[in-house]
Amino acid sequence: MKIHEYQAKEIFVRYGIPINPGYLCHSVDDAINSYEKLDYDLVVVKAQVHTGGRGKAGGVKLAKDTVEMRNHTANILGMNIKGFTVDRILLAKAEDIESEYYVSFVVDRNTKSTLLMLSKEGGVDIEEVAHKTPEKIHKIIIDPTLGMPDFLAREAAFLLFDDIKQVRQAADIFQKLYKLFIETDASLAEINPLILTPEKKVIAIDAKMTFDDNALFRQQKINELFEPTEEEKKEQKAKSKGFSYVQLDGDIGCMVNGAGLAMTTMDMIKLYGGNPANFLDIGGSSNPTKVIEAMRLLLSDKDVKVVLINIFGGITRCDDVANGLLEAFKQIDTEIPIVIRLTGTNEVEGRALLKGSKFHLAETMGEATRMAVDLAK
Ligand code: GDP
Ligand code: MN
Repeated sequence: MKIHEYQAKEIFVRYGIPINPGYLCHSVDDAINSYEKLDYDLVVVKAQVHTGGRGKAGGVKLAKDTVEMRNHTANILGMNIKGFTVDRILLAKAEDIESEYYVSFVVDRNTKSTLLMLSKEGGVDIEEVAHKTPEKIHKIIIDPTLGMPDFLAREAAFLLFDDIKQVRQAADIFQKLYKLFIETDASLAEINPLILTPEKKVIAIDAKMTFDDNALFRQQKINELFEPTEEEKKEQKAKSKGFSYVQLDGDIGCMVNGAGLAMTTMDMIKLYGGNPANFLDIGGSSNPTKVIEAMRLLLSDKDVKVVLINIFGGITRCDDVANGLLEAFKQIDTEIPIVIRLTGTNEVEGRALLKGSKFHLAETMGEATRMAVDLAK
């Protein structure tokens, strides 16, 4: 789960990590009020969206007076950044920057541990640094039984700074960031950039955090910050109806009973050169109501050109499923071709019932998938 910069900064403050002060604003008027309260001439207007790279997209702008601040706020509110519409901005004190650094704690699958990543080349080009000069990014594997003791924090800080006064400030930030990372069940806690000001203060001027979804049950406060995307809203709705559903970007809608069969169906579609529009496991039975709801879900995705229904009748008998499908499709009005593959208990009877219907019938999975892929073309 992602949160916004202003929310991550609130957590930073609770843990004593220095940040540049700011206010969240929803409108230009809001920003004008906040500008007066902030009382710094130089400010920064920052789009708050669940994506990085805001700076490069024009979503982070410095302003030196009310007029500039007002213009930037008006421009940034409503802006679309990588598919996210900006509905709020953070108006913050603009810091003078002597140098920018990169710091993050992240869960690393390869080493099965937390990694501390550090670079002297922080800022908006960190991806390029990682790609072209990976040696400029230091990685420290954190032993969970040790955590971030003083010596390790200082050793890490010496990778970025030479002056002991700056090393101490940075080491303190690393320790606090690690504590916060562990205590909030984060999967990422990133400061990019961590800056050194001309007054030699080390400050976080950006904050990015993501959390382990499976830990949210014990992170009440964090969970309250959840803002589902349109896709996630749809997935939640599906979940409430007893389906497990994941939207994908292909054009073949899949309705399958059983997660394993659903995965295999998607693999087969790929194998024959098609693209699944979703993963959908409708669960054990396939009564008409369930089929109707599943179809509505699939058809709400405008990219779906074909629906592939792949059902294995185990305890559920295929003739019951066939009757359920016939019943359901009396209530569903769609021009979209439907491919059905029924197999298992009473499959012959099931297929006999569907004969003469508008469905495209298949016996094997290979046949059904090829049909669906051809129809999608
Ligand atoms: P991101 O692009 O989404 O990561 O947004 P950041 O908050 O990291 O801002 C992008 C860049 O804008 C930073 O790397 C800085 O160079 C610049 N920037 C952001 N805040 C300030 C600030 O307070 N003062 C100055 N001088 N530059 C800033
Ligand atoms: Mn940043």
